[in-house]
Amino acid sequence: MNLSNEKPNSSHPSSSQPSSKDSSFAKPTSSTSSNSSKPKSLQEKIDLKRKNGQYELPPIEKDIRCPVCNKEVEITRTLYSLPDGDEVIIFVILCEHCGYRKADTIPVYTAFKPGKYQLTVDDGDFTSKIFRGATGNLEIPEIGVTIERGPAANFDFTNIEGILLKMEKQIQFFLQTTPADTHEWEQANEALKRLLACKEGSKPFTVILTDFEGGSYISTTNPAKLVFEKAKKKMMDI
Ligand SMILES: [Zn+2]
Repeated sequence: MNLSNEKPNSSHPSSSQPSSKDSSFAKPTSSTSSNSSKPKSLQEKIDLKRKNGQYELPPIEKDIRCPVCNKEVEITRTLYSLPDGDEVIIFVILCEHCGYRKADTIPVYTAFKPGKYQLTVDDGDFTSKIFRGATGNLEIPEIGVTIERGPAANFDFTNIEGILLKMEKQIQFFLQTTPADTHEWEQANEALKRLLACKEGSKPFTVILTDFEGGSYISTTNPAKLVFEKAKKKMMDI
């Protein structure tokens, strides 16, 4: 595992504009338009340069302010190698003043692809990594539980086991806060039984990650179990 960490030097905020865009960095093939609501992410992608097989992270050129308390925040960027050979850069914005935290990611090779990832888990391997952007929805139909994103959702980086634990916590919370003689409680209790069977490895299941804006994906050591369906225009209009 190749894990390197880089912190920007914030004492030189006035360095020059991003240099030319003729880098050898493979540009994303997704159809994400350049006038989308994420110009900064796209700019960061364009600024990536490949040098002697290593990615050089561009300097962060202006002060980034905390959206909550407006004080200067620290940004860390970590280059992370994935089991399938890809690499991602994980950005974490952390405010020491009020505790605000936000993370985002840029897959170096595959880039963001809007669409639907479908991973079959039938061998007890829960190590596949899930990168879920702000617009990614997760579902395990065999359990009957969906984790949807709210408008202020943060980036989430976890694995299959982490997803199962998160769903289990949600169901447990529902069971504790819902009257036990209701149909809803009974349904949730059945979902919990199915989830526990998945967790024990006695029940195969499918993890579906849908993100029509791009920014989410699944990384696995066994690509034969992963299906990716690119988003169609019709789907994006919904
Ligand atoms: Zn703050």
